[in-house]
Amino acid sequence: MRTDRPADLQAIIDEIHATLKSRFGEGKVADYIPQLARVDPKHFGMAVVMADGRVLRCGDADVAFSIQSISKVFTLTIALGKYGENVWKRVGREPSGSAFNSIVQLEHEGGIPRNPFINAGAITISDLILSGHTPKEEIGEILRFVRHLANDDDIHVDRDVARSEAATGNRNLALAHFMRSFGRLDHPVDYVLGVYFHQCAIAMSCAQLAHAGLYLACNGRNPLSGHTVVSEQRARRINAVMLTCGHYDGSGDFAYRVGLPGKSGVGGGILAIAPGRASIAVWSPGLNSNGNSALGSLALEMLAQRTGWSVFSG
Ligand code: GLN
Repeated sequence: MRTDRPADLQAIIDEIHATLKSRFGEGKVADYIPQLARVDPKHFGMAVVMADGRVLRCGDADVAFSIQSISKVFTLTIALGKYGENVWKRVGREPSGSAFNSIVQLEHEGGIPRNPFINAGAITISDLILSGHTPKEEIGEILRFVRHLANDDDIHVDRDVARSEAATGNRNLALAHFMRSFGRLDHPVDYVLGVYFHQCAIAMSCAQLAHAGLYLACNGRNPLSGHTVVSEQRARRINAVMLTCGHYDGSGDFAYRVGLPGKSGVGGGILAIAPGRASIAVWSPGLNSNGNSALGSLALEMLAQRTGWSVFSG
């Protein structure tokens, strides 16, 4: 069955919620900072925002969580807006085949990260968009952009998360210093990571996230606000990078099972895009071995199966 009918869709997401209920809590919650370690692993929420603006939700769709690496979609969009295709001189657009925080490829590849969605690549993007601003200004710009996309001013940076990220961020510090040693970062490491840690610490609900991603499902334009965020071609290309790189070393598996562009975060959220149809956000804090939400991936696989939504079929 292929369906875009809201009544059918609400029944589908309710059924997914009911089917997965006995498994809530599966996977391993990120525990590198206390603020993530103490999140109740049994949370589960999903929100679907249709191209015509209808919103379907289930479970904890309105509970805010740490979006973490999902923020990388929004900072890439800002960077492309500021620098266009020149972004790709600083960062590649190939899947890494490595963990999100891996350092191994950087040495072989002269400090140029494989893609903007692994940590090294996102740190490079933070460096790029920081040009001409103080870190504080840039954090403000990112937050304003996300609020504008979601059409919701009630979106904030969780300062405790940002502080903890900085206090425990040895791996990200290593990545940044390593890239700076290759001359690949223009700003001091603490400035760049100040931006990076704060973007990761933005807290949003599934409903807010799905609204924020709607431009990617609608050819670059948010049909609810009427604002054109990016060109049609750019939206297509961001979706392409999400499909190929959005789930780190699990990107191939996600494309195989779900068949939609998606970006995960270590907080257990996933933003997925069904082009022309809907923007979807799901949250379940337990992660699989690749650092992607275990039940979140499964819920999206079920949704894609039941709706027929896929970028691989007409
Ligand atoms: N803040 C996390 C980190 O930098 C983000 C990683 C993620 O969400 N995969 O390690």
